[in-house]
Amino acid sequence: GPLVGILAVQGDVREHMRALELAGARVRPVRRPGELEGLDGLVVPGGESTTIDRLSRIFGLHRPLRDLVADGLPVYGSCAGMIQLAEEILDGHPEQQTFGGIDMTVRRNAFGRQVDSFETDLHVEGIDDPDRPFRAVFIRAPWVERLGDGVEVLARADGHPVAVRQGPLLATSFHPEVTEDHRVHALFVRMVREHR
Ligand code: GLN
Repeated sequence: GPLVGILAVQGDVREHMRALELAGARVRPVRRPGELEGLDGLVVPGGESTTIDRLSRIFGLHRPLRDLVADGLPVYGSCAGMIQLAEEILDGHPEQQTFGGIDMTVRRNAFGRQVDSFETDLHVEGIDDPDRPFRAVFIRAPWVERLGDGVEVLARADGHPVAVRQGPLLATSFHPEVTEDHRVHALFVRMVREHR
């Protein structure tokens, strides 16, 4: 299978590794720049985006990761990972920087102002059997406030886009790695295979 890295400086790394393996990928945790070499794709996990940002810069991963995203490496970000793939963020830490890539503005903790976490059934475009709802878990989740023309909306919750795709980049506000339904990871592994 394709080799998919998982940014492993903070967040729910192990859950993503397991879901990716079940979706047919080989997985490599990434903590230093050399570990980015030879990857077919990368996952930025959920966690705390301000911490992921800070540690990525301390470990020298920020610049190479930004460059890989700009060069078209397939990357999937869930929750904090979605925030880190946004070109612009609202309610971020004043010094927070993102890897960018997706032409969108994302508001941190947006659903969290209403309710800390919740689950809901979503219809997600592009996954197998899109008519079978996907049980989506949201934890202090961001939502998308602005989308560029090139960004495709794959799912909405309460009218807000919560799953988006722009070329080889995929992002969800929710955490498919915490459920036993691995169709979002399977979609990403398919994107990685098609890109290779
Ligand atoms: N609120 C977190 C952040 O801003 C994201 C939460 C999550 O990944 N579950 O990074």
